[in-house]
Amino acid sequence: MCGFATHNAIGFEEKPLLLPFIFHLEAQKMQVSAQKVVFIHYTLTNEEGEKIDSSDGHEPLAYIHGHGNIIPGLENALMGKTAGDKIKVTIPPEEAYGTRDEELIQSVPIDAFHGVDEILPGMQFHTDTPDGAQLVTVVGVRGNEVILDGNHPMSGLTLNFDVEVTEVREATEEELAHGHVHGPGGHHH
Ligand SMILES: [Zn+2]
Repeated sequence: MCGFATHNAIGFEEKPLLLPFIFHLEAQKMQVSAQKVVFIHYTLTNEEGEKIDSSDGHEPLAYIHGHGNIIPGLENALMGKTAGDKIKVTIPPEEAYGTRDEELIQSVPIDAFHGVDEILPGMQFHTDTPDGAQLVTVVGVRGNEVILDGNHPMSGLTLNFDVEVTEVREATEEELAHGHVHGPGGHHH
């Protein structure tokens, strides 16, 4: 004899239950999917393993999934993940900031720059185009001509992301209307 314990057909030892006994359904963690607000910590490195950017020492980055807030390759990699998940993903230029387009390198007269004492390579300017604001980078100055590169500074790069999902929550109606997250890690206005 062994007290109240018995063995069933699969050898599982049944112990007497202490009543009252209530079962609570284990809460399902919310998954990353369209319209969810997602918080991530990330480190971005290039193909040589050099750190380009990181959320270290900052609030986690907050974005609304499926709204183009972050690059497509990272959005795809995060689909279905939950808080606590860690992923490493390598993203080609086509799913990151695009391939380089040499036609976006243009020369403009230096007179087009108002209120700038000296134009130096590496300086960035915004210019208004029919498609909206475009960021251009000065790549050189020749006499009275400034050579500008309209490619995104990270175009043509394969990017390695090391990401941890810290929180997934529903977006508010206001966040969906604005197309961005409000509060820590998002917009304050
Ligand atoms: Zn807003």
